[in-house]
Amino acid sequence: MIRFDKVTKRFGSHTVLDALDMNVYSGKHVTLIGPSGSGKTTILRLLMTLLKPDEGTITLAGEYLTHEKKGDKLVPASDKHSRQIRKNIGMVFQQFNLFPNMKVLRNITEAPVHVLGLDKDAAEERARELLDLVGLTEHLDKYPTQLSGGQQQRVAIARALAMRPQVLLLDEVTSALDPELVAGVLDVLRDIAHTTDITMLCVTHEMNFARDISDCVMMFDAGRVIEFGPPEQIFTDPEHERTREFLSAVL
Ligand code: ATP
Repeated sequence: MIRFDKVTKRFGSHTVLDALDMNVYSGKHVTLIGPSGSGKTTILRLLMTLLKPDEGTITLAGEYLTHEKKGDKLVPASDKHSRQIRKNIGMVFQQFNLFPNMKVLRNITEAPVHVLGLDKDAAEERARELLDLVGLTEHLDKYPTQLSGGQQQRVAIARALAMRPQVLLLDEVTSALDPELVAGVLDVLRDIAHTTDITMLCVTHEMNFARDISDCVMMFDAGRVIEFGPPEQIFTDPEHERTREFLSAVL
């Protein structure tokens, strides 16, 4: 389980997350929706330890991501401790962020070999399986620039999964794609959601996709969860006026 306990994040005088409490249970697929600036990406960046909270704690499977125990005191986590826990979390970004100087296969094997210490042959075997999963087997010997945006994004998904994360974070992964390439990427993610037990935390503006893969949709406003529930409830019968307004603007 991912647990945010009274997490506050400020940028200067702007409070982006305001004593946020949030639980995401293992194996569940949760989509974060809400207006621009409501703090959705900040949540993913905190989980990747790209940001640190000003107050509150975050745990993954009972282990503190943001803190570590020194005796019976809780102190801010060292980078080493955060890296150790963060190994269990993979992220796919809007802008694929592939290594441009490495071919597709090496993009996928690089971290398993250098971070997990996996044997090169085993890493390549796993990379080939993942390329098969994302439908790119015939492209393993190409450089990222030789692929379409949709194909690059599918490589990025395979690369994240190669680390065998417990949690996959997806940050508007189709926003930078030409419309005709979106469906291919969403199909791959749908497949992963329906065939693995990975926990997914997803920020997306693709409401049909959210409806399809989510166990739970959380509506954010001004750094707080104002409403959450199964997609059929949130999309068809939201309780909160703010949710109704937001959905009528995006659906
Ligand atoms: P969107 O749907 O537009 O991506 P979001 O809900 O993901 O929005 P965040 O990206 O989490 O929103 O940003 C929340 C707020 O925090 C915004 O007002 C943003 O300008 C501000 N913010 C985010 N990162 C920083 C930063 N590094 N420095 C200063 N302000 C920041």
